Amino acid sequence: MQVQSMQFKARAGQKLADQRLQQNLTKLSTKFVSARAAAITEIDFPATREALKARRDRALDTLDVWLETFEREATRRGVTVLYAETTQAAARLIADIALEHGVKKVIKTKSMVTEEMRLNAVLGEMGVQSIETDLGEYILQINDHEAPSHIIAPVVHKDKEEIADLFARTHQRPRLTEIPDMTREAREVLRPHFMTADMGVTGGNFLVAETGSVALVTNEGNEGMCTVMPRVHVAVTGIEKILPTLEDLATAMRLLPRSATGQSTSNYFSVLTGPRGAGDQDGPEHMYVVLVDGGRTGLIGGDFQEMLRCIRCGACMNHCPVYQKVGGHAYGWVYPGPMGSVLTPAYVGIDKALDLPQAATLCGECNSVCPVGIPLSDLLRKLREKQTERHLRPWQERVGLAVWGYFALHPGAYALFTKLAVRVMERMGGKKRMIARLPLGSGWTNTRDMPAPVGRTFRELYAAQRTHIG
Ligand code: SF4
Repeated sequence: MQVQSMQFKARAGQKLADQRLQQNLTKLSTKFVSARAAAITEIDFPATREALKARRDRALDTLDVWLETFEREATRRGVTVLYAETTQAAARLIADIALEHGVKKVIKTKSMVTEEMRLNAVLGEMGVQSIETDLGEYILQINDHEAPSHIIAPVVHKDKEEIADLFARTHQRPRLTEIPDMTREAREVLRPHFMTADMGVTGGNFLVAETGSVALVTNEGNEGMCTVMPRVHVAVTGIEKILPTLEDLATAMRLLPRSATGQSTSNYFSVLTGPRGAGDQDGPEHMYVVLVDGGRTGLIGGDFQEMLRCIRCGACMNHCPVYQKVGGHAYGWVYPGPMGSVLTPAYVGIDKALDLPQAATLCGECNSVCPVGIPLSDLLRKLREKQTERHLRPWQERVGLAVWGYFALHPGAYALFTKLAVRVMERMGGKKRMIARLPLGSGWTNTRDMPAPVGRTFRELYAAQRTHIG
């Protein structure tokens, strides 16, 4: 997927003006936020979160050890494990696997790392048909390969009526508007692809080192069809998804579905360990696991290592006041919301996503809902610091910060300046005591008037109050 994060401001403006999108995004709070709030009451959320955080840190602190363990155990069970330093190399590896096995058709589950790799486009260029089988991803694919706007609900930006139009146009069938009828129609269209595909490509929610297994969490059952029916199965995922043990996986599964969709457990949960063995009734003849770096090792040992704990639940974006208004497409790459605003600069370059670390109110809601305790707002602040240090912010902002820095270090000058400023601003407010236009601060007054201060600073008022009490 092309990186378009530099257009965040322009895209966000368009999204805010899109009334249909604004209506569709209300699903985030009416469905996901309330469902999660109810689901986490079933467990001791703070304690479970601390436990999972510790387990993820243990895995990441000795990532090389657990990757080697995973490779050894998976290989022992007949899996071919391959490593890719870049997302492009990962796409080439999967294309080579398809060539080696004479694959003509691939069926896929939802996988954000394959979005990073542009896998469908790469397979298409070599004449291999790649069909998305997650309902949301299928809808996007038939809508001219639109990008997902959310990591677990890729079509959250669309409503039922839009999808009804799309199905009628694409499937050339009568327009249906009842969701069970529409999903049955999608199932009828996808079923022949399940029956005729040569290769299934899935992501991997987790990798279990001690057993060499790939764990998949879905709600539609398409992952079972993609991993069992074709003769070749390729699981592709980031290297950070490793968990040392099945106990770690059990802890993760207490939090992932609850944080993502507010479910106690997902409808389907598969732990895949090796290809079809002697005497097995089903399963692929060949199984591959492609482990993608794609910038992840660059985070190890640095300021942003904590981001690697992410289990891709989407809770941070569901609760983010910015994401709730602009949706995922405004962010311009695979990962939106607070986690995307940290991951995108970290993976594609801080200079290619200048506005994303600013696309946050730093309210801290993302920190409080994250099931692995990632301090997202602190990481966003660190990215802002790095942008300033590297002179990547506009000169006006840098001058403003330098001036602020001077006053912050000189309390006398600060007191004098603020005394002057509040008196000028009081006059600007006039009789109505409202400021309609603020020079150098138009962002505050573009869409509303700002109440004028009372003409004295907080310190002056505080000192007067103390004198009065005394
Ligand atoms: S950062 Fe935390 S809340 Fe956001 S997707 Fe990752 S695990 Fe979930």
